[in-house]
Amino acid sequence: MFAFRQVDWESIMSVHAYGTHAADRPLEALIIERRAPGANDVQIEIAFCGVCHSDLHTARDEWGGTQWPCVPGHEIVGHVSAVGDGVSRFKVGDTVGVGCMVDSCHACSACDEGLEQFCQTGMTGTYNSPIADAPGYTMGGYAQRIVVDQAFVLNIRHPAAQLAAAAPLLCAGITLYSPLRHWQAGPGKKVGIVGIGGLGHMGIKLARAMGAHVVGFTSSEAKRADILSLGAHEVIVSKNRDEMKAHLESFDLIIDTVAASHNLDQFTTLLKRNSTLVMVGAPEHPHPSPAIFALLMRRRSIAGSMIGGIAETQEMLDFCAEHGIVAEIEMIPIDGINAAYERMLDSDVRYRFVIDNATLAG
Ligand code: NAP
Ligand code: ZN
Repeated sequence: MFAFRQVDWESIMSVHAYGTHAADRPLEALIIERRAPGANDVQIEIAFCGVCHSDLHTARDEWGGTQWPCVPGHEIVGHVSAVGDGVSRFKVGDTVGVGCMVDSCHACSACDEGLEQFCQTGMTGTYNSPIADAPGYTMGGYAQRIVVDQAFVLNIRHPAAQLAAAAPLLCAGITLYSPLRHWQAGPGKKVGIVGIGGLGHMGIKLARAMGAHVVGFTSSEAKRADILSLGAHEVIVSKNRDEMKAHLESFDLIIDTVAASHNLDQFTTLLKRNSTLVMVGAPEHPHPSPAIFALLMRRRSIAGSMIGGIAETQEMLDFCAEHGIVAEIEMIPIDGINAAYERMLDSDVRYRFVIDNATLAG
């Protein structure tokens, strides 16, 4: 016997989106379906969506496990167009955001502590995570609309004119804010940010606003002046050995955002005693093994960090609104996405591409 799934056509809405059908195919126009909002759901018309390097890793199956068609995008901002009966925190017309998660178990110790990103049964990512709705996994923000449980929707308090530039805060912003807070960046601390792309440039701005002495590490000589204008006190071109040597054993914290495999010893040796190199970049291929003596001789650590919880993401958005912090963006129409991916691979992003989702229409 076959069990046929009942399809409630009334509750399904087709929207324009952009995604891939295979790892080696470019992104192209698609029609996808969004559920009608349930009791606790918020329906959002997406105005802008930032382009994260994780979108590229996933679209090209660099981490494995990508399901197709794949619609990336987890730096979503837009306006509420409908809410379910049980929604109290949002109303039609509100300006809102959605980041990297759309659900979690709500019951484990991580969820209890507001650390949904570390949900023990696995948080539901905004794209490429299993869900009950067709097609059985989530599809992200390269689309006209998304429907999300209110518990995973954020308030955006930036002025309307900054909405597009606020989109990258939903991933790039929180991914740097959370480790900067956890490892207590602030006055009197020397903080390094490695790789000045989408994540890294937010790290420079956030660490500066927290009062730290901020040093940007880049492999791109051409970014030197920009990095100072973003708020760094100093810039080091990491290929330049003399510049690196001048900073030996001087950092309280270094956060590494690089999207490719590289030698970590050049950064661990710059840490003071008891200090930490935090990895947030997630390259396709592993880094060469770090030199263990560089760690044990000074009780140094290498740690990891992944985005931030929902409460901390709201705290970060409010901190950024208060301090006038947004991303430096280059707006693209949706059909510019494939060229944008190639430029991201060339480290040629100043400093985040943001899709104008109005270009998805028709
Ligand atoms: P991005 O905009 O492409 O920036 C990455 C930067 O790393 C580049 O601009 C470049 O900066 C440097 N870089 C890239 N390739 C390099 C190479 N081969 N050698 C040396 N430096 C290189 O990427 P992103 O969106 O910021 O994301 C960065 C990484 O973080 C990705 O792997 C992404 O998947 C991951 N990520 C992790 C989390 C998390 O929660 N942990 C969240 C979001 C993203 P310079 O030109 O300054 O050297
Ligand atoms: Zn991201």
